Amino acid sequence: MVRRRAAALVLGLLHAANPFVLPGPRVAALHMPRRPQLRPPTALQMARDLYETLGVPRGSDERTIKRAFRDAARKWHPDVNDTPEAAERYKEISQAYATLSDPDKKQRYDMYGETGLGGGGGPGGGVEVNLEDIFDSFFGGGGGGGFGGARRQQNGPIQGDDLRADLELDFKTACFGGQEKVRISHLEKCETCEGSGVKPGAQVRSCATCKGSGVVMQVTRTPLGSFQTQTVCPTCRGGGQSVDAYCTQCSGQGVSRKAKQVSVTIPCGVDTGNKLRVAGEGDAGSRNGPAGDLYIFLSVKNLNGFERDGVDVTTRLSVDAYDAILGSSETIETLDEPSFSVDVPAGTQPGTKLRLKGKGAPALGKATQRGDHYVVVDVAIPKKLDGDSKKLVEELRDKLRK
Ligand SMILES: [Zn+2]
Ligand SMILES: [Zn+2]
Repeated sequence: MVRRRAAALVLGLLHAANPFVLPGPRVAALHMPRRPQLRPPTALQMARDLYETLGVPRGSDERTIKRAFRDAARKWHPDVNDTPEAAERYKEISQAYATLSDPDKKQRYDMYGETGLGGGGGPGGGVEVNLEDIFDSFFGGGGGGGFGGARRQQNGPIQGDDLRADLELDFKTACFGGQEKVRISHLEKCETCEGSGVKPGAQVRSCATCKGSGVVMQVTRTPLGSFQTQTVCPTCRGGGQSVDAYCTQCSGQGVSRKAKQVSVTIPCGVDTGNKLRVAGEGDAGSRNGPAGDLYIFLSVKNLNGFERDGVDVTTRLSVDAYDAILGSSETIETLDEPSFSVDVPAGTQPGTKLRLKGKGAPALGKATQRGDHYVVVDVAIPKKLDGDSKKLVEELRDKLRK
């Protein structure tokens, strides 16, 4: 299983060397293809014509071969194709591509066929598959198929990071919604250079090291074979450009950190733990990539005496024993009114819950759909009675017990 280990190694290298794997949740969204199940090729497969394997005419040019390989990889990669023959087919096309994408090997193959490749360390040895091509075929744009994930083209736009802000709301604002302001600090596109990082009027030329591609190829030789990997050009750091003066406002970054106040509309019915997303208020993207989003994590302050459970709220009301016996009219605070009149019926028991229908909190985003307000009645028993009162209570007791 030498080939399997080799493939895994290269995947690891590529991952580590890739500077555009974004931190945080986007990493989770990046779906790394599982390594192909490579097995030593059999004699029969080695005898297959490599052009035929890729489905292109003999002597096809580099571009045709590359396109055919991408299409075939999309179709046969074991991650997208779970038929039993997929792994085998995928291996075949990878090997065919490894040979035909290498001008030297291609020439030898064109002239001498399979035997022309014999000297390279035996079947399967020294296969130089540029896995970047495979990745491109899955992550690259245009196709729309394959996996969702961050666009990773070296020179392409990069989306800015998402940001988090925390906001504590008043109890009633959380119930009924409102306007709030949040202070944030995020990266904004530099106005001076419009995000390019280049000083206005400065000369921009193609980077000599990478010829403008932003990447350089590196061949890594390991006991398991040689592998070609792409890394970001060290000269231009992936920009592909050589610039004679950078923007002084943003030190060539194209973005600068700004403090900002963001106005947010709080919908009714929010609660601790809810998040609000404000599109485009995260960090600015680079190379004209879109900005990330701002996520506002909400928490709700306590309101004295009020407890909320979803759409229902509960308060407590203390009445004395006589009112509990005889009934009374009490004034309480509700979410809407500071003094709301509530009837305590005669004979109310301690712990009775009175229900005020529709006086609770609105459902999330639905102002008219409201829960209930429960009033829990506490009955206060007098602790001390003077002589006369005590007599009266005794009389009452004796009378009622008859
Ligand atoms: Zn600038
Ligand atoms: Zn460069």
